[in-house]
Amino acid sequence: MTATPLIAGIEIGGSKCICILARSPEDIVEQVRIETRDPAATLNEVDAALERWHGEHRFAAIGLAAFGPLELNPASPHYGAIVSTPKPGWSDTPITSRFARFGVPIGLDTDVVGAARAEQRWGAAQGLADFAYMTVGTGVGVGALVADRPILGRGNAEMGHMRVSRLAGDDWPGICRFHGDCVEGLACGPAITARHGPGAVAADWPGWATVEHALAMLIHNLVVTLQPQQIIIGGGVASGQASLIDAVRRRALESLAGYYTASDLPDDFLIAPGLGTQAGPLGAIALGLSALES
Ligand code: ADP
Ligand code: ZN
Repeated sequence: MTATPLIAGIEIGGSKCICILARSPEDIVEQVRIETRDPAATLNEVDAALERWHGEHRFAAIGLAAFGPLELNPASPHYGAIVSTPKPGWSDTPITSRFARFGVPIGLDTDVVGAARAEQRWGAAQGLADFAYMTVGTGVGVGALVADRPILGRGNAEMGHMRVSRLAGDDWPGICRFHGDCVEGLACGPAITARHGPGAVAADWPGWATVEHALAMLIHNLVVTLQPQQIIIGGGVASGQASLIDAVRRRALESLAGYYTASDLPDDFLIAPGLGTQAGPLGAIALGLSALES
């Protein structure tokens, strides 16, 4: 019997980076959280964790799941870099090359495709080849698998920046630096903070209607374009507001207006991650395992 390989995973998020040393969700050796600051300080700290783990345990592969946009075309001289991201200081930051010296296979994809792969391997999407993982956190992002492949054209899809019809009577401008009221500009954590002000956001805050509506419109668009068998909604905003997924489901069905009804969509069509808040970090492990297997 061959032992399951040990993988070092790094989920590089807009607010935090999670470094995880694991074989599977049931076999996590260590997990550390590093605040996302400028690239040099953040990646130096990540590097130190990996250095220590490689010395103590010897991992077989590295998985990197990062916010994007990423250069994922292997033919590009910039393969493995975060490219022109709105996140200050992070544009043109090479990621994979920093970890090449460990001499192990490196898997890289977006944080949302990573989380989708983790849900497919261990979580709610087992057996599915057409589904999407959406995060609602520091940003809004969607990792969609179509025929078991992530959408990858000129670059990775950035569906959180879709522009959708606005909730009737709401003209709050949104906070996306590029688009104002794209879905991310209306529904990400920083948008909620900008509109609500500092402090805890009550479950009955009226601004949730805007968030729910924007996400439901994005779901409508995903349903009619990608024909997903399932859409998983994770991220800090979704996990912090228990009623969000049900509200989004209701608004999405209302918007689909009978073209697709609840009975057309499986019971588990719109759900929270099977892996809970570990979907993101385990995404990095799944990407490392895939790199090792391929
Ligand atoms: P990242 O996007 O860095 O991976 P998360 O998915 O945890 O991180 O998202 C962090 C964002 O979620 C922050 O903007 C935070 O303000 C927001 N957030 C976390 N909990 C809640 C909550 N209960 N209500 C609203 N926003 C929240
Ligand atoms: Zn935008």
